Amino acid sequence: MAKVDTQVAVIGAGPGGYAAAFLAADLGLQVTLIDPEPNPGGVCLYRGCIPSKALLHIAAQIIESRSAKDHGVVFGSPKIQTAKLRSWKNDVVAKLTGGLGQLVKQRRIQYRQATATFEDHRTLTIKETGGSTGKLSFENAIIATGSHASPLPVGKVDSDRLMDSSAALELDTVPQKLLVIGGGYIGLEIGTVYAALGSKVTLVEMTPNLLPGVDRDLVGVLQKRLTGLFEQLLLETTVKEMKAQKNGLRVVIEGPDGQRQTRIFERVLAAVGRRPTTSGLGLENAGVQTDKRGFIRVDGQQRTNVDAIFAIGDVADEPMLAHKASHQGRVAAEVIAGRKVAFEPATIPAVVFTDPEIAWAGLTETEAKAKNIDHSVSRFPWAASGRAATLGRGDGLTKLLVDPRTERILGVGIAGVGAGELIAEGVLAIEMGANATDLGLSIHPHPTLSETIMEAAEGVHGTATSYYRPKKKSK
Ligand code: NAD
Repeated sequence: MAKVDTQVAVIGAGPGGYAAAFLAADLGLQVTLIDPEPNPGGVCLYRGCIPSKALLHIAAQIIESRSAKDHGVVFGSPKIQTAKLRSWKNDVVAKLTGGLGQLVKQRRIQYRQATATFEDHRTLTIKETGGSTGKLSFENAIIATGSHASPLPVGKVDSDRLMDSSAALELDTVPQKLLVIGGGYIGLEIGTVYAALGSKVTLVEMTPNLLPGVDRDLVGVLQKRLTGLFEQLLLETTVKEMKAQKNGLRVVIEGPDGQRQTRIFERVLAAVGRRPTTSGLGLENAGVQTDKRGFIRVDGQQRTNVDAIFAIGDVADEPMLAHKASHQGRVAAEVIAGRKVAFEPATIPAVVFTDPEIAWAGLTETEAKAKNIDHSVSRFPWAASGRAATLGRGDGLTKLLVDPRTERILGVGIAGVGAGELIAEGVLAIEMGANATDLGLSIHPHPTLSETIMEAAEGVHGTATSYYRPKKKSK
């Protein structure tokens, strides 16, 4: 084979791309990582997971400070210094992306601040951000280009007032009236940020439920709180028209009864899903196939239909989650290094970072019912948790889905503060094939919210210490 410029070319330096590049380098491969940003990070670090979580932390502080009055401590109204808040959020991003830049250097990875297009199945055209263009031949390539926001079905709206999540996280301003379109992850998380900062938030969701597909009892806990935080939550509602005018965006909203109303909003956030990013990649030049929905087709080793080309993360399949991308990236790197591995997780956990957080792993009740999977459910209400009481947050819920024959843990669902941290135990239980007795006999520290998982496990036998719900005797 003719000499190539790099053993592994990784296109896109988000959590999938940089995890793949780092492991490939750790395994002794010579790696080139290509991304238009000056440092790795991708949408997640620059315009997604990290800035949103920084702002959600502030939102939680504001919300907490309000509820302190119920416990005898009264704070004044917060004064929002938008510029300072923005700069703190940007500092968080810069610190993390700068750290990744250091890790690139330590691993002696070639970093190209550029975009890449396939010329053929062995060569990329590299367009440097500075302007120059060159070629890069590779032994293997990993496509990790992620996803972008789906457009709204209302035609073109030429106005900065219409934001996608990236624009909303810039935090240009805190609008008085914000319309959020879409009651999924992004709409709920960013809606929470703006509502806490003082915007009157109206959210419209097309389906009858927030977070469609997620178990209703978990979503119910969140919905109850959002009803207090948001100005309006409108279900089975869509936006039919949108027009920019001087004082805002004029929006025609249609509710479940077909009734239409026209409203003006200072800003609108569109969060109606995301699509895989493949345009401009020249996939056709390399012969890489996509499916009907635009995802790059891959096998269990993340290999595309072209032998030397892999795809990982949002561009390859759902769920579009950073932690899934990182693990797929590591699998692709190992496969390229000659290891016999595949991406076969027992579960990919999901977390919605609202207040309260919602997290789940493994089988959900919704899925179990839809697919007629034999299961039993044990619920532990946080009203019975000492730790939740000390936080003033007895509104949470922890539940386990178990196999009724073996009591093996099939799924874990949590709604409550810190659910995103707590779910890791559920992931481990599912990956390790633990059963309810394993979880119930593992001593959990007191008083902590983690005990709700232990008690839900005890509840499988009808013997939860803090919650009396004896097991029904079988007839
Ligand atoms: P989503 O799929 O989570 O939610 C989109 C929502 O918009 C759905 O509820 C859908 O019914 C609704 N919708 C669609 N068209 C509509 C319309 N015309 N009018 C009103 N409602 C409409 O998508 P998202 O919130 O844009 O997020 C995209 C993806 O990004 C998520 O699926 C997730 O994988 C990822 N993400 C994850 C996190 C996290 O892990 N915490 C956070 C943000 C985003």
